[in-house]
Amino acid sequence: MEKDQITLDEFGLIDRFFVQSFDFKNRWPFQGVGDDCAFLDVGDRRIAVSADMMSQSTHFLDEADPYTVGRKALAVNLSDLAAAGATPKAFFLSISLPKIDQQWLSEFSRGLNEESLRYNCPLCGGDTTKAPLVRGQSKYTIAITVMGELPLGQGLTRRGALPGDDIWVTGTPGDAYAALGDIWGQIKIHPDDRLYFQSRMNLPTPRIKFGEAIRDIAHASADISDGLCGDLNHILQSSKVTAKVYWDWLPKSEAMCRLTKEEQQRCILSGGDDYELIFVAPKMYRERIQKLNDILGSQVTRIGFVVEGTGSVQIIDSNGSEISVLPSFNHFG
Ligand code: ADP
Ligand code: MG
Repeated sequence: MEKDQITLDEFGLIDRFFVQSFDFKNRWPFQGVGDDCAFLDVGDRRIAVSADMMSQSTHFLDEADPYTVGRKALAVNLSDLAAAGATPKAFFLSISLPKIDQQWLSEFSRGLNEESLRYNCPLCGGDTTKAPLVRGQSKYTIAITVMGELPLGQGLTRRGALPGDDIWVTGTPGDAYAALGDIWGQIKIHPDDRLYFQSRMNLPTPRIKFGEAIRDIAHASADISDGLCGDLNHILQSSKVTAKVYWDWLPKSEAMCRLTKEEQQRCILSGGDDYELIFVAPKMYRERIQKLNDILGSQVTRIGFVVEGTGSVQIIDSNGSEISVLPSFNHFG
């Protein structure tokens, strides 16, 4: 190891090696690394762009059903557009395949196309390669770049949360992680709840319409891919504020309520893969936000407040004590 090497996690390595500070000439104005989407201003248009990769064994199980892999691959990208409040317009697919398995490809593309049609977001290009064989094993990798549209000068980022703002979350986070914990044998779910939890893990719903509806009123937003506290922390660190979140206010699905409190905390606070939105908005919009349940087809819940501070989250239990939170997902964390 070189002498000046320091320990880096996923976000540290991005900061150290991929955040550029060169002086580019005639570039498109953009806001970039650190948000769910980058915004590119081209003429009188603002385009939101996000790229996400899914690797077999890391993001989906080796034996995962290719239809759900196809749907989820696009859904998790669309979810970043939802976090920015952007309207989907186009996507690009780069895929690395171990072999041509027509049955796998037919199911994968069926899922992908269904999601593409559902969100009116056509496939406009990409790349296809053969994955290398390493020690007799070869895996699928799926990289999608999605593009959406925003009114010029608009779009939500992780910056902008102010002391006094309310913190809100859509749906019931934690359910996807309960499915994974069940598969890993770490969380004991009720057998009747298995199908529900698995559907929440396999088929997330990108909150596109909701994102568009809060675009004008939220101060900052993110989608929950790494875990509620982890993604809220991204907002807090970008905005340089602290949050108080109340355990009793956090929405819990019926199935979640059947887990122990410790398991609920593991899933809801630190478990990722929900693709719900976490956002902050001024108090004056409470009623307006509550009325958005219809657009959401699910519930939107106020879970706490933004306060002055240095970018951390405090989860307060019913008795007023602070709950210690397990780390959220971090590649290389
Ligand atoms: P999300 O979970 O919303 O997809 P990530 O946590 O993956 O976002 O990424 C955080 C930020 O870092 C994003 O703004 C993303 O565009 C940026 N980023 C991630 N990897 C790279 C990379 N290799 N080069 C440049 N930017 C990157
Ligand atoms: Mg995101």
